[in-house]
Amino acid sequence: MAPELNALKVEPRLWIDGVWADGSGTVAVTNPATGDLLAEVQRGSAEDLRRAIEGAQRAFAAWSRAPAALRGEVLKRAAALLTARRSTLAALLTREQGKPLAQALGEVDYAASFFQWFGEEARRLCGRIQPHPTPGFEYLVQPFPAGVVGLITPWNFPLAQGAKKVAAALAAGCTAVWKPAEQTPLIALALAPLLVEAGLPAGGLQIVTAPGRLVGEVFTQDARIRVLSLTGSTETGRSLAAAAVRHFPRLSLELGGNAPFIVLPDADLEKAASDLVRLKFLCSGQVCVTANRIFIPASRESEFLEHLQPLWLQARVGNGLHDGVDAGPLIHHQACQQVRALIEDALAQGAAEVCVNRTHATDARLAAGSFCAPTVVRGVRDDMALASTEIFGPVAPILTYASIEEAVWRANGTPFGLAAYVYGTDVARARAVAEALEVGIVGVNEWRPLRAEIPFGGIKESGLGWEGGEEGLHEFVVLKTIALPRASVNIGTKENL
Ligand code: NAD
Repeated sequence: MAPELNALKVEPRLWIDGVWADGSGTVAVTNPATGDLLAEVQRGSAEDLRRAIEGAQRAFAAWSRAPAALRGEVLKRAAALLTARRSTLAALLTREQGKPLAQALGEVDYAASFFQWFGEEARRLCGRIQPHPTPGFEYLVQPFPAGVVGLITPWNFPLAQGAKKVAAALAAGCTAVWKPAEQTPLIALALAPLLVEAGLPAGGLQIVTAPGRLVGEVFTQDARIRVLSLTGSTETGRSLAAAAVRHFPRLSLELGGNAPFIVLPDADLEKAASDLVRLKFLCSGQVCVTANRIFIPASRESEFLEHLQPLWLQARVGNGLHDGVDAGPLIHHQACQQVRALIEDALAQGAAEVCVNRTHATDARLAAGSFCAPTVVRGVRDDMALASTEIFGPVAPILTYASIEEAVWRANGTPFGLAAYVYGTDVARARAVAEALEVGIVGVNEWRPLRAEIPFGGIKESGLGWEGGEEGLHEFVVLKTIALPRASVNIGTKENL
């Protein structure tokens, strides 16, 4: 059992209507660095999911009518509690997900920032009065909470991905049923008692760990689910979108990516290389916005690799709970095999390994862990699977280009459109390149451009809708326009007095 569970008052069960409940069967949650069992977590059935939706529907009646300022206060208290317990939460997150403790602390802070931001935004949600073409009439355009929402999240940022959705939904006045990934439900469950302590009424947030396909079916068959918000692969998004035609919930989909990292000819190569290492070692490359294709001017490739290689090899791979670790394991052994297969496929077609970081191999305690040696590969072509698929691992494929136009054209040559990175000292040119890229977010000389206060979302096959920013709140709001006569009131004359 993970020792943090007691401290956080978490039971490995379902959380429905403000109490812990049993499901039908369990799912084993293990530490990917060691293979140790952390908990057998109760798994929900279709019936449990429907019970959760029903409870959320009951809770909606009061929560949706609560003053927005009060909802905001609950969320801001949740932010403060997350911050106060960041060390315990981060330790649980590292144990369950594998990322290094410093990154887990960063994720807890990032999650808290969404509760803080949407806690503040709650009371800024306003409607408007709009002129009517007929004299004596006017329009009221009013926002209302959408209803009960279904939230589905992946295992790579299991706290932050949930926090983005939960905080926005609750701020808007919705109640939610959250299904976390089966690999990482414990950190999600940690949010349940914390939100109650912050003042959220029972049923405001239900958490049910269950198989994805089953949840997809129940959520799309149930007309009470009015927003369906998924962070996951494009394939899962496609299947949910197809099933959603039954009742047309609003779809909010944060899906896969294949981010280009374009190093312009005038870039500071040392900075570009150092940022690339930080980006690729974040969550061991299991990040939708990680760099998947590194475009380098052919004339500067050797120089760039000279900067990259020592930084890549200096970083330490290991158990995220140990000091000085920069990258943890992958989520499971199958993920390691998939990443290795992509590398082997590229090597078989003429690509070459530049350097491989095997620092984890020296630690015998990690023998059962699902570790993947971070690898830089050069000579990668656009048509190789290593460049055209989302790798989701610590691999940096190097592609060379001859002109900036060519780099932009090739960067856009993918069905994905999530994130991109541009490095260059001429900021005007870097900005022009950023504007030409078909993606939702670009970091110019910045490797981590994500914040609670800015909208984040993909275009093309990377998704629909936005998280964060003021836009994130609107995902959970429906508008109603009321056309009505303007009250004609006599404000009085001297004679009336
Ligand atoms: P996944 O799609 O397999 O799983 C994500 C979640 O969806 C899990 O909770 C899973 O149980 C559930 N699920 C699976 N099949 C389902 C179905 N048919 N109906 C409903 N739910 C279903 O993805 P993953 O492997 O866990 O996560 C990695 C993927 O997530 C990558 O493609 C990554 O790019 C993407 N991702 C995107 C973002 C973003 O913000 N755009 C962020 C993180 C991860």
